[in-house]
Amino acid sequence: MTTQTLTPGARTELPTSTEAAVLHGALDIRIENKPLRPLGPTDVLVEMRSGGICGSDMHYYADGRNGTNVLTQPTVLGHEGAGMVIAAGSDASVAAGTAVVIEPALPCRECPTCLSGRYNLCPSGTCFGSPPTDGLFARHVVVPEAAVHVLPAAIPAEIGAAIEPLAVAVWAVERAQVRAGHRVLITGAGPIGLLVSQVAAANGATEIVVTDVNDDRLALAPRFGATRTINTATAPLDLTNMDRLIECSGNTHALAAGIQTLAPAARATVVGQARPTVDGIPLGFLQRYEIDLVTAFRYANAFPTAIKLASSGAVDLPSIITATYPLESAEAALTAPITDPTNLKVLITF
Ligand SMILES: [Zn+2]
Ligand SMILES: [Zn+2]
Repeated sequence: MTTQTLTPGARTELPTSTEAAVLHGALDIRIENKPLRPLGPTDVLVEMRSGGICGSDMHYYADGRNGTNVLTQPTVLGHEGAGMVIAAGSDASVAAGTAVVIEPALPCRECPTCLSGRYNLCPSGTCFGSPPTDGLFARHVVVPEAAVHVLPAAIPAEIGAAIEPLAVAVWAVERAQVRAGHRVLITGAGPIGLLVSQVAAANGATEIVVTDVNDDRLALAPRFGATRTINTATAPLDLTNMDRLIECSGNTHALAAGIQTLAPAARATVVGQARPTVDGIPLGFLQRYEIDLVTAFRYANAFPTAIKLASSGAVDLPSIITATYPLESAEAALTAPITDPTNLKVLITF
């Protein structure tokens, strides 16, 4: 391992290369040594402690693509990650030894959308781990200081990666405008659906119905705030006058059926990855009852709230983590949620 020049206050020897999980194509992930970008004045060097497997990582691994984004060159996977800062650039203020979670969005920060605060919608923005931008499944990463959030002692970096999906849930509930006393339907009992359930409960929802087609997953839902579960493969969706639908499964039928349970002037929020075009959405029903149909894409300014919810215990972050694998076993980690559907959040540890 070679080293780069000393930064004041940093360790004497900093790595200039690192081991990473590099996706070369569908079903072809390799642990390789990659050069590290030199530390710029506003960068921090993070020694990773946890990386979370997300549905998008599983799609890239299985198919070499996720939605419209296709892998065209070897790319380090991973957009959920936390670790310890071990060195900071001359203009960065986070001290070495600080535990941080990395917010993976890389917006331009200059366009009207970014300046309005909705940086998740930046037309030229990218994201760590979204090919061709290298991601976080590496022993070390150099990232802009603006991309890190300091973790309090209550959230060790070893589980800090799970803050990212919690930020997705925080933004989903924000977009859904869940209020105290609401009756909320959540379709999909995966990690996002169950985190949404916890955040909705923290927001004061008094009735939370979680649906899925897998009984084992549904069995976990009460622990995450669900007051009732329905397996829609075997039982009718016998709900009326719900205040909110938060669709977390990506399933078009779940969205269409969920909308039909809503009360006049209610709100439906699409969080699960949507198909490019969709038939079967009851548009006339939406209009007749002025039901708002909105979408959520990643998150904007949601990490601070996610960190507060997890550190206060309002959200039980450790319970969402069901398996951990070392970096060398990245391939097993990427398939674990398929092999065992009761796996919620699978972490890579370093
Ligand atoms: Zn994710
Ligand atoms: Zn922008």
